[in-house]
Amino acid sequence: MEKLYEGKAKIISPSDDPKILLSQFKDDATAYNAQKRGTIAQKGEMNCRISGALFQMLEKQGIATHYIDEPAPGQMRIKAVTILPLEVVVRNIAAGSLCRQTGLEQGTVLPFPLVEFYYKNDELGDPLLTRDRILILNLSSLNQLEQLQSKALAINTHLKTFFSRCGITLVDFKLEFGLDAEQNLLLADEISPDTCRLWDQSQTDPKARVMDKDRFRQDLGDVETAYQEVQARILSQLETTSS
Ligand code: UDP
Repeated sequence: MEKLYEGKAKIISPSDDPKILLSQFKDDATAYNAQKRGTIAQKGEMNCRISGALFQMLEKQGIATHYIDEPAPGQMRIKAVTILPLEVVVRNIAAGSLCRQTGLEQGTVLPFPLVEFYYKNDELGDPLLTRDRILILNLSSLNQLEQLQSKALAINTHLKTFFSRCGITLVDFKLEFGLDAEQNLLLADEISPDTCRLWDQSQTDPKARVMDKDRFRQDLGDVETAYQEVQARILSQLETTSS
């Protein structure tokens, strides 16, 4: 199949319709700016199904996404967008780089959701941005930045509630947004255990509770099982709410 773009976790191909692209989710896993590489069996199919289910849930809540449908396992039809060069991270609980950079203890519940913007730039190691750095680098207008902030917070509210019903704590996650031909701002990329920190509410042990890519990053084992469990809980929660 012809490729438009190949990233670390997905291959994007054209379709007959220039407004529609095909995203093929890969089993490849990378961490630490691709210094650690591996594969997670069935990850592509699981992340595609998980992302698809979450995009559908968010659409029902009025959040515009690039999601169209899933023609085959591991494949998602998406609306063509130009991806903004920003990663939008939302945090409810301190973990990862927030702890490394601020000294906050892992697991500290934040007094309000923290929205952060990172520069999508592998050569620079995806640095943390400030509002003024974004404006000076022309990565977004102030108006668009405010839209991104409020969309990210709304998405956090919906995802947090949904994951909580699955017995999962949403610690933090990364979003990407894009603009379609009409300049509509759409939620894009994926929402999966690759891009979220998810803690099992039935486990107290800090290692046992991890249901996301930290199992791969930190060599905790049982990565596939954790992803399978996230998928099973999400799909069964969706069945409960739709019936
Ligand atoms: N994240 C991501 N892609 C990235 C960087 C971060 O999906 O390139 C996600 C990560 O999985 C976590 C959240 O964003 O859910 C915050 O990541 P953090 O800044 O703590 O970075 P890390 O500890 O992974 O270096």
